[in-house]
Amino acid sequence: MSAPGVVSARRQIDDAFRHRHPDDELYLRRALETGLTGTAPIVEQYERKISERYGINHVLAVSSGSAAVAVALEGIDWEVGDEIIVPPSCPICTVLPIMARGLKPVFCDVRPHNFGLDPEDLARVVSPRTRGIIEVPMWGYPSRADELWSIARALELSLILDLAHCHVTRLNGKWLAEFGDIACFSTHEGKFMSTGEGGFVMTNDATRDARMRAYTRFGNLDGKKVGLNYKLGGLQAAVGIARLDAIDWHLEVRARNRQYLLERINNPLVRELPIVEGGVINGYALLMQVVRGDGRRFVEHLDAHGVPSDVKKYDNQPLYNYPLLADRQRDCRNARELLRSLTTIPLHPQLSTEDLQHIVATVNAYVG
Ligand SMILES: *Cc1c(COP(=O)(O)O)cnc(C)c1O
Repeated sequence: MSAPGVVSARRQIDDAFRHRHPDDELYLRRALETGLTGTAPIVEQYERKISERYGINHVLAVSSGSAAVAVALEGIDWEVGDEIIVPPSCPICTVLPIMARGLKPVFCDVRPHNFGLDPEDLARVVSPRTRGIIEVPMWGYPSRADELWSIARALELSLILDLAHCHVTRLNGKWLAEFGDIACFSTHEGKFMSTGEGGFVMTNDATRDARMRAYTRFGNLDGKKVGLNYKLGGLQAAVGIARLDAIDWHLEVRARNRQYLLERINNPLVRELPIVEGGVINGYALLMQVVRGDGRRFVEHLDAHGVPSDVKKYDNQPLYNYPLLADRQRDCRNARELLRSLTTIPLHPQLSTEDLQHIVATVNAYVG
């Protein structure tokens, strides 16, 4: 037992999980034999495997998570200058592709203690130029995308889910990805599943899929529509095929690590961020929230004792604070307070029992 304010062992916990799979070499060799371009059979095989896993008809592998957002925008109708509603609590990676297409991001507040958009605030920010909504649930915790999708449909707006953090996150017995018109993912090395760089987009709508697919291959080179090359290469797809099989193992180990921590953390100043009813997290990170006081003090305490936090690393704050988005300024209180109250705690499979014990001791020693 450690007394409050005291953490005995000095330890630095690694926040990066090095993804490896015994089948990586097997599929890489297959890619070398069958072709490495973005239209090689290995890429189709990767897309099919994701599609089977999620039970969603159309999957399009792309070169990054930000490419996935840019490509998803091609699946909805808009003109330059139109508006896309986003939460200010997401990473700037979601917003830059919107701006790059000449669309205007419009910030909408999130619900209290959740990264999902707040329906009441949404009603305030919708305008005649709104063309779409992007929901960005963070660190594997589901949002009320089910309710948001109903609202979006009533408003005749498309809903895109940026699930870069929410691979295999669940809601109401389904994948969170099923509660939107289009879902996009990142497979960057730092994400739940990694192909080094990469991403994918999925939809059940064949028309949206055809439009998005054309956009990733120069508009099918027919000279009638704009497009770029956003295809994922064969080597990344090969690694993706191998690593899709490791997802269940990730879920299991991360759930076990979370349970270990939650059973031993007994500091009344902090709690896990509430999980929406019917939701199941993926264990990408454990979100801990201070129940009073400034959460950044908690982040600093953890950092000083070798427990890394994404919130420390990225200094997450409402995006309208950034110079690029200063003209989109709009105070979103829930988002501001949420980001200020939180820290991420790693749950990745490389954590040892000593690491977990050190996290427990460090969290329990926090005195505010
Ligand atoms: C990481 C991330 C992206 C960008 O993904 P890349 O693969 O790095 O381009 C987009 N949106 C969110 C929410 C992310 O976390």
